[in-house]
Amino acid sequence: MNASSDPTWRAAASVVDPELRVLTIEELGVLREVVTEPDSGRVTVTITPTYTGCPAMDVIRADIRAALAAAGHPEAEVVTVYAPAWSTDWISGTGRAKLAAAGIAPPGPAGTAGPVPLTLSVRCPLCGAADTEQVSRFGSTACKSLWRCRACREPFDHLRAF
Ligand SMILES: [Zn+2]
Repeated sequence: MNASSDPTWRAAASVVDPELRVLTIEELGVLREVVTEPDSGRVTVTITPTYTGCPAMDVIRADIRAALAAAGHPEAEVVTVYAPAWSTDWISGTGRAKLAAAGIAPPGPAGTAGPVPLTLSVRCPLCGAADTEQVSRFGSTACKSLWRCRACREPFDHLRAF
């Protein structure tokens, strides 16, 4: 994973998530591995999809191929790996900060929601208040739910933790 100085990694890492346009697939934790075979120079990119509800992976695959073609690797292959399953824990610190700046509440740690998800405290990305309520299970996309802040009364999208 620590290949951030590799220009091939950088090319793949520059691809932006089509759902959360503020995040790259690297910041989202979708980009797992970029391998360049020493002999053939053939590039294989490994990604792990986010949610099944997000019809974004085809777009991401096409964008990765385009980015690598532009970087001189027109025959790059994109491999999808489903295990271990992606979780919102894979979103990097930079990614979380960008989500907050875009008014999307970053997800809490996955798997800690318990049987009553409504008790989750989702902090308002606009004023920082913890006094918030879920308005709808579905926000602007299937990956987000719609919340409202009781302090500043503004609605905001919350990226659902899986
Ligand atoms: Zn607020």
